[in-house]
Amino acid sequence: MSDESNQRTDTVTFVQEWMMSGDHEPDQWHRDFAAAIDARCTPSVPESAKGERVVLTNGSLVTDDHRDIIENGPRAGQQKAYVVLSMAERAKGFVRPVRRSYVHKACGVVTTMGQSLAETYARDPAFYSGTFCCGCGTHFPVGETGEFVWNGTDEKVGS
Ligand SMILES: [Zn+2]
Repeated sequence: MSDESNQRTDTVTFVQEWMMSGDHEPDQWHRDFAAAIDARCTPSVPESAKGERVVLTNGSLVTDDHRDIIENGPRAGQQKAYVVLSMAERAKGFVRPVRRSYVHKACGVVTTMGQSLAETYARDPAFYSGTFCCGCGTHFPVGETGEFVWNGTDEKVGS
């Protein structure tokens, strides 16, 4: 892939993330616009990633090393990349509200995640086995016996 098309993909990702971020709940207009941008940039999505049920948060194919932990910088402790359901898969409908923030009950710190991760939870609540805590700087299990609740609720993340 050329530098130019890499840059275009970065810009598309930036615009999508920007539109879907913030304190507001993204409405249907935002979703449609993000989907339209996604459709327009389809040529820059690797041919091999099309039709995949799961992809990385940037829309590319899942790599063998995506679980490697970043050691330094602002993303220290996080995985190199996270797997999400593809946009087509998420578009099939949510079975839970889209929630971006959760509390780690052990430390009380709120962690906020990106829109594609939040929508993956909303489409398939049991998709992930664990999640990251910004306070502790590491991952812990989610689910009924996990230590995470959606911010402002008593509802366990991953349940
Ligand atoms: Zn914590």
